[in-house]
Amino acid sequence: MNQDDLVQRVTTLRQQLRDHNYRYYVLDDPAVSDAEYDMLMRDLRSIEAAHPEFVTPDSPTQRVGAAPSDKFAKVQHPVPMYSLGNAFDEHDLRAWRERVLRLLGADAKLAFVAEPKIDGLAIALTYENGQFVRGATRGDGEIGEDVTVNLRTIASIPLVLHDPGTFANQSTETTNNSIPGTQISTIPSRIEVRGEVYMRTADFAALNQRLAAAGERVAANPRNAAAGSLRQKDPRVTSTRPLRFFAYAVGPFEGVQIQSQWEALGLLRALGFPINADARQFGDFEQAIQYCHTWMARRNTLLYEADGIVIKVDRFAQQAELGVVGRDPRWAIAFKFPAQEVTSKLLDIVVNVGRTGVVTPNAVIEPINIGGVVVRNASLHNADYIAERDIRIGDYVTVKRAGDVIPYIIGPIVAKRDSNEQLWKMPECCPVCNTPLDRIEGEVAYRCPNFAICPAQLVRRIEHFVSRGAMDIVGIGEKQVQLFVDRQLVKDVSDLYRLRAADFEGMEGFGERRIRNLLTAIENSKSQPLSRLITGLGIRFVGTVAAQAFAERFGSLDALATATEEQMTAIDGIGPAAAGSVVQFFSLAYNRVLIQKLKDVGVQPVAQSSATAKVSNALDGKTFVITGALPSLSRDQAGDLIAAHGGKVTGSVTKKTSYLLIGADPGGNKYNKAVELGIPQIDEAGLLALVNTPATHTENKEPTPSAEHDVGQFNTDNQMRLDL
Ligand code: NAD
Repeated sequence: MNQDDLVQRVTTLRQQLRDHNYRYYVLDDPAVSDAEYDMLMRDLRSIEAAHPEFVTPDSPTQRVGAAPSDKFAKVQHPVPMYSLGNAFDEHDLRAWRERVLRLLGADAKLAFVAEPKIDGLAIALTYENGQFVRGATRGDGEIGEDVTVNLRTIASIPLVLHDPGTFANQSTETTNNSIPGTQISTIPSRIEVRGEVYMRTADFAALNQRLAAAGERVAANPRNAAAGSLRQKDPRVTSTRPLRFFAYAVGPFEGVQIQSQWEALGLLRALGFPINADARQFGDFEQAIQYCHTWMARRNTLLYEADGIVIKVDRFAQQAELGVVGRDPRWAIAFKFPAQEVTSKLLDIVVNVGRTGVVTPNAVIEPINIGGVVVRNASLHNADYIAERDIRIGDYVTVKRAGDVIPYIIGPIVAKRDSNEQLWKMPECCPVCNTPLDRIEGEVAYRCPNFAICPAQLVRRIEHFVSRGAMDIVGIGEKQVQLFVDRQLVKDVSDLYRLRAADFEGMEGFGERRIRNLLTAIENSKSQPLSRLITGLGIRFVGTVAAQAFAERFGSLDALATATEEQMTAIDGIGPAAAGSVVQFFSLAYNRVLIQKLKDVGVQPVAQSSATAKVSNALDGKTFVITGALPSLSRDQAGDLIAAHGGKVTGSVTKKTSYLLIGADPGGNKYNKAVELGIPQIDEAGLLALVNTPATHTENKEPTPSAEHDVGQFNTDNQMRLDL
């Protein structure tokens, strides 16, 4: 490239990057994937590295984010909020460490702190004498936006700092290498806490579904959803969004003595902030590299999107010596995971009919490997999403996969069109039963109204009925259910109990033993606990936690069927949506007949009280709400333990709640509500002390479905996913 071409290239790259920055940081609506953006940035960096004379102070390589929006008052950061330099492989990581050693001297003693790099937006929170006084976005690094009122709605941000003395002695419980306790027992007179506001992957998916159903714009990814939700003019909107906060650093502070990042994490935890439980300190840099590899392989087990690992030089004195270059501190580096966004061709759009008749479009794409998984189908959310993004059959599209969420199409690559692409339209009739589709005014969703007969809805309902969280009939999956329905052996879930060995004749894969096992599993399910049967009925808004509460309160399906909304909403954690939905369910003749048929075939659910053998009365009358990941017990195990000692677990905090059982990364509204109502909080050790039980007691218990399974198929224990 000659000089003129180079100048032209640099100008174009800068303009493109500025435009993308504006869309990403100000509008929260990126037009390209992060991988594409990173590529442009890398191009610009490499030209500037070879030609330092081209570097200008306003180059995107020298600046953080974008100028703050006029929507908010501006806040000058006392210490700038920087970006992070990137490492894309081991070689880059080692080169970074060598640079650090070159600057500090070869014999400098180094320790490193590493943690997943949560993909959200950076926030600085100022506390004075323990009170939260101001919160600001990073903005352009020097000046951010004042989003204090919006931040106040996020439950995991303490409005008042905890007294660190309360938490200081807990370091003995933590496992090797995990975040330390703190020796500090006083609240700092002033401290700036830095961290990330983010959205869990499952919460993001649920929010997008909700927004799509309400006809609102869906967000491109959890990061943009978090940024868009936080940067709302109306804090009431922010308060309805599932935002969370992780603290990962301290800015300026007074009145406490800490010397390192590791101590800072200990202090932050003691002050009541959620800290990433996976943060680790390493003396040996090779272990830090290993940590990067481990998390790269396990990134999909995290409950949130992480785009890499941040490694920081631990000691503050060394950080100060290393300083900053351009927009990146020299003492930290982000090891970036490879992108989980790829390009594929959209071969077709097919529509699926769900359990409640909602018809959703799905993309059939050319099979493509994303992060080790071959993806053939991807979500397109709804018809409006397709129209709004002008997605056409035959388009090359960007596909993203993250965590447990079904891969989804981000949008078309318009530049790759060859005019053979076809516009798509929602079919007018149900593709399975041919009934004309309904679209309720004001809703985005199309529905097949043929609830009782539509075979597609029936298949989904049966799948739900036999699923692990409901009647747990092992040996029946999607394929078998489809076969039963196709052969008209099963016309509603009660027909499962009428299946005989002869019905399987000629069915491929059904040997004598398999048939026997399946029939036994079906037979055994007749005496599942009542809550599982209620879950299995698939009543809207009634997941496993609500089903459990109904089973305990009413004791039988007949009693539930005749209960009033008032009786239901009097139960802790049951709101009008679930209560109304139950009443509506039993008002349909089809469902009443179904319940009778289930009785006729001998489905006799076990009364709830006998589902968990009682061990003691230690927790009689006590109600617990669980939030966050407990160090050793899964939520199910904690629930079992509480029930075994006479207590119970409910889904939301009310003034009747006895304790908030709190684990790592507590969230939702539970924490805030508990603080507001003055509900005592205990951790796992506190629970075990209450029941006087060592943790191993519950180890072999069969887990029962929990609220966590309701919302996103997650088990928060160690933040590992359960239902892969
Ligand atoms: P960055 O995201 O690479 O790194 C800095 C940020 O990391 C911090 O501001 C903080 O928010 C976050 N972070 C998370 N965990 C952290 C931890 N433990 N310690 C410290 N920081 C932590 O840098 P950036 O300047 O915010 O943005 C660049 C990223 O944004 C790139 O990945 C880029 O792809 C993306 N981007 C995309 C577009 C687009 O149009 N698609 C546009 C602009 C930027």
